[in-house]
Amino acid sequence: MKEIQVIAFDADDTLWENEPYFREAENKFCSLLEDYLPHHTVNQELFKTEIQNLPLYGYGIKGFMLSMIETILKVTENTGHVRLVEQSLMIGKEMLSKPIMLLEGVEEVLKELNGSYRMVMATKGDLMDQERKLIQSGLEKHFHHIEIMSDKKVNDYRKLLRHLDCAPENFLMVGNSLKSDVLPVLELGGYAVHIPYHITWIHEEISHSIEHPNFHQLENIKQIISILKN
Ligand SMILES: [Mg+2]
Repeated sequence: MKEIQVIAFDADDTLWENEPYFREAENKFCSLLEDYLPHHTVNQELFKTEIQNLPLYGYGIKGFMLSMIETILKVTENTGHVRLVEQSLMIGKEMLSKPIMLLEGVEEVLKELNGSYRMVMATKGDLMDQERKLIQSGLEKHFHHIEIMSDKKVNDYRKLLRHLDCAPENFLMVGNSLKSDVLPVLELGGYAVHIPYHITWIHEEISHSIEHPNFHQLENIKQIISILKN
């Protein structure tokens, strides 16, 4: 991959842990409503609400909080105590103050690549929350550009590449989501590396496997170094 000039990294579950915090929050939320419905039913209702709200709120914790409140109204048929709303807001605010846990090898890989490539962080999520995580992570110094994207579809990447003045064949995207970090980039003619994380949000899952000359499946971020030399 000698032609790579720009490497963009997804952030959540690629650089640092994120999905476990959502699973933990969902569990707490389902417990709040266990007098009304079983856990898995509340969870399904919450997921449905989140997906319906994605086009309105986008990705991130704030949208998740509003979806929890809406789920309370649905599950309790508008009879739930307002205390449930207060507790849901607390669950969300707790998520917004979680520590940043870097994944193994991230720091050393970024340090090694910085200098040889233009380094970009390209992530979905709430602007303020992603900025908070980036600053707390201590990784900001390794990146030339930070892009907080409302979505990661082909058109979003096209805009990013235009902004970076980078041709697709000089662009490599690294991330844990095949749907958001890999498929749209391959479609544009760029390169993509998938590093799976042990938990994936159902919304980010795809059922088929990917075979493509510009695609590499890795087990951990450290393997990027040798891939780039080939
Ligand atoms: Mg991710």
